[in-house]
Amino acid sequence: MSNAKSLEELEQKQDFIRRHIGPSPAQVSDMLSALEVSSVQELIDQTVPASIRLEQPLTVGQSRTEVETLSYLKSVASKNKVFKSYIGQGYHPTNVPHVILRNVLENPGWYTAYTPYQPEIAQGRLESLLNFQTMTLDLTGLDLASASLLDESTAAAEAMGLAKRVSKAKKANAFFIADDVHTQTIDVVTTRAEQFGFEVIVGKAEDAVNHDIFGALFQYPTTSGEVVDITDLIAGVQSKKAIACVAADIMSLLLLKAPGKLGADVVLGSAQRFGVPMGYGGPHAAFFATRDAYKRSLPGRIIGVSKDRLGNDALRMAMQTREQHIRRDKANSNICTAQVLLANMAAFYAVYHGPQGLKTIAQRIHRFADILASGLKAKGIALKHSTWFDTLTVVSDSKDDVIARAIAKGVNFATNHEGEYSISVSETTTRADITELFDIILGEGHGLSVDAIAADVEENGSESIPASLVRDDEVLTHPNFNSYHSETDMLRYIKRLESKDLSLNHSMISLGSCTMKLNATAEMIPITWPEFANLHPFCPLDQAEGYQIMINELHDWLVNITGYDAVSLQPNSGAQGEYAGLIAIRKYHESRGDAHRNVCLIPSSAHGTNPASAQMASMKIVVVNCDKNGNVDMNDLKAKAEEVSENLSCIMITYPSTHGVYEETIREICDIIHEHGGQVYMDGANMNAQVGVTSPGFIGSDVSHLNLHKTFCIPHGGGGPGVGPIGVKSHLAPFMPNHSVINVPGTNIGNGAVSAAPYGSAAILPISWAYITMMGSEGLKQATEMAIVNANYLTHELSKHFPILYRGRNNRVAHECIVDLRPLKEQSGITEMDVAKRLQDYGFHSPTMSFPVAGTLMIEPTESESKGEIDRFIEAMVSIKGEIEKVISGEWSIENNPLVFAPHTQGDVLGNEWDRAYDRFYAAFPVPAVAKNKFWPTVTRIDDVYGDRNLVCSCPAVETYRD
Ligand SMILES: *Cc1c(COP(=O)(O)O)cnc(C)c1O
Repeated sequence: MSNAKSLEELEQKQDFIRRHIGPSPAQVSDMLSALEVSSVQELIDQTVPASIRLEQPLTVGQSRTEVETLSYLKSVASKNKVFKSYIGQGYHPTNVPHVILRNVLENPGWYTAYTPYQPEIAQGRLESLLNFQTMTLDLTGLDLASASLLDESTAAAEAMGLAKRVSKAKKANAFFIADDVHTQTIDVVTTRAEQFGFEVIVGKAEDAVNHDIFGALFQYPTTSGEVVDITDLIAGVQSKKAIACVAADIMSLLLLKAPGKLGADVVLGSAQRFGVPMGYGGPHAAFFATRDAYKRSLPGRIIGVSKDRLGNDALRMAMQTREQHIRRDKANSNICTAQVLLANMAAFYAVYHGPQGLKTIAQRIHRFADILASGLKAKGIALKHSTWFDTLTVVSDSKDDVIARAIAKGVNFATNHEGEYSISVSETTTRADITELFDIILGEGHGLSVDAIAADVEENGSESIPASLVRDDEVLTHPNFNSYHSETDMLRYIKRLESKDLSLNHSMISLGSCTMKLNATAEMIPITWPEFANLHPFCPLDQAEGYQIMINELHDWLVNITGYDAVSLQPNSGAQGEYAGLIAIRKYHESRGDAHRNVCLIPSSAHGTNPASAQMASMKIVVVNCDKNGNVDMNDLKAKAEEVSENLSCIMITYPSTHGVYEETIREICDIIHEHGGQVYMDGANMNAQVGVTSPGFIGSDVSHLNLHKTFCIPHGGGGPGVGPIGVKSHLAPFMPNHSVINVPGTNIGNGAVSAAPYGSAAILPISWAYITMMGSEGLKQATEMAIVNANYLTHELSKHFPILYRGRNNRVAHECIVDLRPLKEQSGITEMDVAKRLQDYGFHSPTMSFPVAGTLMIEPTESESKGEIDRFIEAMVSIKGEIEKVISGEWSIENNPLVFAPHTQGDVLGNEWDRAYDRFYAAFPVPAVAKNKFWPTVTRIDDVYGDRNLVCSCPAVETYRD
């Protein structure tokens, strides 16, 4: 017999697993030796409590190759029917500029970045987000904007929250929504109001003033397309000391007067049609703007301009003390992951087209609407309104026939209002499309000529936008929107910003709790396939068969992986998942006559979104202490559960704990809560230490969210998008979110929605689907095991130099560890912030700083990092330790050392003056490995206090660039 390999061996199907997992087999052996164990199995046995180990392997299938996976997924995707969408209602076809498609959406330099918590190495996306805010301010006519919310409907719910906080109508408890607001927005806002205990009144816009309200929401133009002057409606609301909120269509604002100029207090909407595909509902960025007076109440992130150490303009997230990670249950919102990548796309769309280009697009859309209207009216078709921007609503007896003809031609209209249908034209609409629309509505042989009508409209003008609402002010005058209109200039602008940002394509981003693992290219490819990208979320279900297949498969796998019975994919971030899960718990208690159960126990180590979400569900939060080993203090837990027993709603607990250990008592914790009639919400952010090894359902929890943008490979996008599905045991399944436009099977009719779209950010689900497919049951388990190996190896090596704050059984950690910098700080005066900034000089993004314990770094290498990269990180940490020791020994003073001056920019190091205690070369190249892959921060340390005191959240005027 020859010793040639068998065909089977040659066909080895495991090839993706070894691509996803960083360490080679030889590196794994080296790490295991360092850990003094003989196998991965032995390490796992030492680490994960036996009582929670799964007895059965996962059943998500065998791993499949990249080629097989994409070829199968293509066949699934091709079952989607991409009709021409005129549905509107907040989602429109758009032409994604190819320069943005390839260089932003499909570019790991943009999509693998993290939220800009380390602003010195994030100036690129911060500039782009500042462009997004500037664009928002110009178009809305308000003073202060945030850097993206999750979608238009949740932004409207946030507007209601803001209204309640700032309204002087303190006694009022009702929020008014005009009945011509998008259906899904009414749904999401109503869900939120129910949780807060507000009353919602839906009625004719003119009736707002007749109610005792703290705020009101209008749509501009309305969902059926009418352009109404809302000046008086707004004034009426304000006369009652209530807050006037307006949900606006971003494209229409190029032609229509800014709602802020009509008096609105809050203006919000979706930025989707600025070059972001519909994607069957998301992800898209929402914009949100309000008055300067309400800045402390603004939900979500704000990018602000500050100064760096050398006095240069430098951008960073402003006023972070408003939000969940600091203010916890007192936060304005629970928003953590938002929609940064999509906000950046929309901002770039505005940069690329500029004010003239955007106006031309908007005018063209409006002209087509005029032509369509004119032709229809000439043929005696009755339009519901006499004003419009892009949407015409036809009141019709023959609706069914028209819709049937439309479907036959591959065309969708909005049909969810009785006796009428609506047609929204978009950037993609052509003359031929208008002729086709005439054919559909009038039947062929109508004799209308688009060219002739166009000439007529041009000659006679149009009155479809009321004169009082014609926009007459300049927008987007800043040079950023007026400089990059050739593709060469645009390409370079995108690249220039990208180069300022450290992403996963440069080095490891070991952010504890954030699981910055590989986002494989094969996983990313399907999201821009037209079959996935170009579906409207409200298209008839039979056109979305491919999506349904993919979603159902993903659903079933997540059920298997979590050990739950059902999953909802609607929440579009982890925090929204928490909110959806807590609603399910609340409704469950109510269904059993236990409406009084409203206390939520939360360990002190919890992520800020937990208390913020519990507060949104109107729960009373009771904090449970941790003991000195970082575990939940069981005595305190028992005592508090006992104390609130009758009123116990649930506990929110993260597993493995945010302290990076598998708590041995987790089952007991679940039992205690259940004995008192409560439910267990297990925060699934740390699922990367569970998949295939244990599961929340198996452990005994009732509901969890997963962060598909952590464990399941959706890239972080520089601060979003994300997907936060919830898994639940069967008793909670009926209480998961539904949707008022598209019914979601498996949950009670009439349950409210938590996101604008029935399947949330559907367009990025193929990423997680592909990850699970390519890893298979075996690969997923290996990923978890290797995450544990990498974390323990890193812990073992770092523990020679730094104290490790918490450990579990056998001195092991789970998938992350906390390095305690406090003793060094005490001796040297060097802070965790100095260490984080100095890491930038070494080419690394800092690990998670001061969460969950102040003065520490939480490090999570994930399974995707090779030993080589982990060793480079360790080398950097050890070298930094050496630097701190020089401060302790007095060789360097606390004022003059490379840590306090970190990070070092080229300008700093190459400047004419140098009076440092260390040399220039050392500042930038402290260890030889850095020279091979130098990353230069583009600004020096940023002054947060200055920025918050002098809040500027739009692009600085050109003059400031000059001085
Ligand atoms: C990331 C995280 C969350 C919040 O998830 P988002 O998707 O950012 O909203 C909640 N809990 C923990 C422990 C996390 O790490």
